[in-house]
Amino acid sequence: MKELVNKIETIVGPENVLANDSDLLAYEFDGLTLFSGCPLAVALPKTTKEISSIVRLCREASVPFVPRGAGTGLSGGAVAIEGGIVIECQRMNQILKIDEADRYAVVQPGVVNAELSDAVGHLGLFYAPDPSSQQACTIGGNVAENSGGPHTLKYGTTTNHVLELELVLPDGEIVRLGCPAGGSVGFDFLGAMVGSEGTLGIVTEVTVRLTPLPEKIETLLGVFPDIVSACRAVGEILRSGLTPASLEISDQRTIRAVESSVYAAGIPTDAGAVLLIELDGLKEAVERQADRVSEIAMGCGASRIEVAKDEAERQRFWRARKGAFGAMGRLAPDLFVHDAVVPRKHLPEILRKICEIADHYGITLSNVFHAGDGNLHPNISFDRRDPEELKRVIAAGEEILRLCVDAGGVITGEHGIGVEKKEYLHLVFSESDLATMSLLRDVFDPGRVCNPGKIFPTTRFCTEANPKARGYDRVPFS
Ligand SMILES: Cc1cc2nc3c(=O)[nH]c(=O)nc-3n(C[C@H](O)[C@H](O)[C@H](O)COP(=O)(O)OP(=O)(O)OC[C@H]3O[C@@H](n4cnc5c(N)ncnc54)[C@H](O)[C@@H]3O)c2cc1C
Repeated sequence: MKELVNKIETIVGPENVLANDSDLLAYEFDGLTLFSGCPLAVALPKTTKEISSIVRLCREASVPFVPRGAGTGLSGGAVAIEGGIVIECQRMNQILKIDEADRYAVVQPGVVNAELSDAVGHLGLFYAPDPSSQQACTIGGNVAENSGGPHTLKYGTTTNHVLELELVLPDGEIVRLGCPAGGSVGFDFLGAMVGSEGTLGIVTEVTVRLTPLPEKIETLLGVFPDIVSACRAVGEILRSGLTPASLEISDQRTIRAVESSVYAAGIPTDAGAVLLIELDGLKEAVERQADRVSEIAMGCGASRIEVAKDEAERQRFWRARKGAFGAMGRLAPDLFVHDAVVPRKHLPEILRKICEIADHYGITLSNVFHAGDGNLHPNISFDRRDPEELKRVIAAGEEILRLCVDAGGVITGEHGIGVEKKEYLHLVFSESDLATMSLLRDVFDPGRVCNPGKIFPTTRFCTEANPKARGYDRVPFS
């Protein structure tokens, strides 16, 4: 292993390899503290060729490697659960090209999400996918997780904005998929890559769609007596035929945590819930829509609607929403940000039942979520040093997932499967579904060296534990 690390040092330079215990501590987790794994070393490459050479070395030595961006993932995806080499892409952080006419940008994987919109704003453009972690997370991580965000309701997830990828495959080969003009010919390998959670290769360059900034944005904050009436308002707004850019709910515990943090925005702490509504488009249309959604929200029990009077106030509302997970650090040392999707019409009922589950297990639950997409984030604050509490957290988390699936939903909306949810895949897929998906993984990575131990269940699904039994070879992209 020492020899492998030495060889990696010759590729990227010794100053770009971390291998001592104190440095590696920082890589034991991602944004989820339920799972940990210590890598053998962390490589910090600056070029695609360096990544390709490291990957070839790992494959030859049958040592796993794990792609990593900023480590903000919430399902353990960037954790070296089986050891090996973490290949962190944060030093590949250049915006390589901005094409204003054809509205796309070519970026390296380590570009921070928010920095891309900042860089193209002067051209009247932005990059639409906006995870709440966008001040830190990278475009490479977003592609791997097919990340969404508050504006997914209108603009879609990352997959709707990726035009072309350059990748290093698990055998070190460098390939390009897709093209900047969009469209696709033959099998949609680009689509398969987006959301593959770093298990099919390492993204080394991304061509993303840029979107024109809307002429007018109106941001409203509806104050509700309880979360169920806020959920009802979401249903009624969408039933009216309007599609806001976002519809985000925060419950009372979230509001109180935020208001006692640096993200405070003056939201009333006695509110049962708030609904953040953003409308965008042509000026006249947005103004009419704002009147209409206010009427609907009041009809569903809102006690008042505040309209952001300027950009500074709008940003304050959004800081309060996007800083909510951070503010929950005030409630307990650890936070389990759960992620599931339910059909929107079931939101009021599901939220009520989730609160009952929390009461039953005696856990500290808060809800802040993308209500317009039915994408829930029941957040459980806990202390992982307390084994009894940990058991209740896991049991409550599982019950919440089952509840969502029983309602016709799925086990993740945007945070991926990673390590966290791999044993729950059987709730939504049959064994033969999983075997078929595993065949795709075999095509790219028959030796399971690329981010092993992720996505596929190990306990119920024996082929993951014994990939060589299938004897597939990689199909080249020539
Ligand atoms: C406060 C907070 C708020 C969040 N809000 C949202 C949200 O609104 N929407 C949302 O979707 N997510 C959200 N997340 C989750 C997380 O930020 C996203 O999943 C994000 O895309 C991860 O990016 P990253 O750069 O941190 O990736 P990492 O955490 O480093 O990695 C995530 C996964 O991507 C893989 N990966 C990373 N880089 C590459 C690469 N170059 N090539 C191939 N695979 C790679 C890793 O192996 C891993 O499986 C939030 C997280 C936090 C902490």
